[in-house]
Amino acid sequence: MPDILDRARAQVLADGTGLDEAGVLEVLRLPDDRLPAALELAHEVRMRWCGPEVEVEGIVSLKTGGCPEDCHFCSQSGLFTSPVRAVWLDIPALVEAARQTAATGATEFCIVAAVRGPDARLMAQLRQGVAAIRAEVDIQIAASLGMLTKEQVDELVDLGVHRYNHNLETARSYFPQVVTTHTWEERWETLTMVRESGMEVCCGGILGLGETLEQRAEFAAQLGELAPHEVPLNFLNPRPGTPMGDRPVVEARDALRAIAAFRLALPRTILRYAGGREITLGDLGTRDGLLGGVNAVIVGNYLTTLGRPAQADLDLLSDLKMPVKALSSTL
Ligand code: SF4
Repeated sequence: MPDILDRARAQVLADGTGLDEAGVLEVLRLPDDRLPAALELAHEVRMRWCGPEVEVEGIVSLKTGGCPEDCHFCSQSGLFTSPVRAVWLDIPALVEAARQTAATGATEFCIVAAVRGPDARLMAQLRQGVAAIRAEVDIQIAASLGMLTKEQVDELVDLGVHRYNHNLETARSYFPQVVTTHTWEERWETLTMVRESGMEVCCGGILGLGETLEQRAEFAAQLGELAPHEVPLNFLNPRPGTPMGDRPVVEARDALRAIAAFRLALPRTILRYAGGREITLGDLGTRDGLLGGVNAVIVGNYLTTLGRPAQADLDLLSDLKMPVKALSSTL
């Protein structure tokens, strides 16, 4: 029987058909000496089905902290003792953040709020914010505002929000160990409505929440079923005061195996490095990931933790001869 990487070469690289759950699990279980070959294949798949461009995105938090939900990894939940207070950003600060993001060459600017779902006040802020950004900055606007109603989905489409982020976070079978205030299925419902509306779907999650390798593979397969335009892959950065504050970080080699496996499950998606990569992988790992299937990065700071400086990422892309995706080609 051929090795999983030989089978993946024939199926994923040649045909563009992602690995199923069993195949992903085999990749996640590869011994260390096969990891370079897995990353190399994932990189070939990304180059073949996505091309050399890297999408650069900035994110800003419109409303930080004080969330009523209990996602056990999240320092923005108001239910834990984590030191993130509820803070709202004003519109001029939002426009300035969009301007700074565009100045790095980023094409995407994602407005995020720590909420279960938007209320009237948040929708009003968003309306104002999106209009102000569109008037002054040339960048595509995405949003991440939690669970949506159909009316809210329609309103986002009308505003010109082109992509919506809502993470499934982890495998369906593990989700109840991570969140108890809402269900995985409720998240799936929002994602389905977003997809049907024509907005691009951005949906990923966090690895290292205590899920098994089987559940990691299950999660990759569930994302494969959803087929999001973009998948942000986070690694747990354990935040003090959260129920997962004492969890160990994902080992660099396991993180890289996961990156390769997710790319082989999702050959055409934008696979984005999101939070936690600095502590899991460090600078060298960032390079390894970009040569192992990743084709998008978030520049600058994350919502509650400090990221690498934007310039370090842009220099790395230039070293790797990976062009930053241009705005004109995405409109
Ligand atoms: S992950 Fe989102 S929904 Fe969950 S607690 Fe944090 S901000 Fe709230």
